[in-house]
Amino acid sequence: LHLALAGLSHNSPSMTAHILLLEDDPAIARTASYALQREGWTVTHSVLLQDARVQLARNPCQLLVLDLGLPDGHGLDLLRSLRASGNALPVLILSAQNDEIDRVLGLELGADDYLPKPFSPRELAARVKALLRRASTTPVAAPAVLLDDAPGQRVLLRGQVLDLTRREYHLLACLLRGCGRIHSRAQLLDAAWGDDSTSTDRTVDTHVKTLR
Ligand code: CA
Repeated sequence: LHLALAGLSHNSPSMTAHILLLEDDPAIARTASYALQREGWTVTHSVLLQDARVQLARNPCQLLVLDLGLPDGHGLDLLRSLRASGNALPVLILSAQNDEIDRVLGLELGADDYLPKPFSPRELAARVKALLRRASTTPVAAPAVLLDDAPGQRVLLRGQVLDLTRREYHLLACLLRGCGRIHSRAQLLDAAWGDDSTSTDRTVDTHVKTLR
């Protein structure tokens, strides 16, 4: 029993978590840092996306609190590149209230939770705690957001089949196979249109736009 309890306390997320906070508003960052540190977590604060990328590469953390509007870009770009590289780090987005597009896009890109500003420090701490608990009890990485069901020639988004044309399917499947890599238009054309010589770069652009 003693060992079991020791093990439990060792695994308790509140004991060990290191949280990266990416937020450019000093007042909000102060409030968030205070709320998180009060729970016993270590907080590293970054103001720039560029700085957060360096922190993530150098310093392992258990959770990212992510603001979206940042001086050197959009927070969703960081989320997108994390997920494209297979990184399942729990991400909680902080953003302006009523920004439905950012909220929906963020969740579709693989954010784990979303908290509109202004937020209550207690609610932030509670949501972070829930995410850390979930991450610590999830033995395997979170399931891929997009799943290529090659035999059925269909792509699932969180278990839901996407309504795609045959070309769109082949295009998306090609992108998923090379997730995180850059594809030329010629490669995409080849993957989705094969020997159909009437298709052009414009065709690829149009289809990619539809997929987006
Ligand atoms: Ca901001």
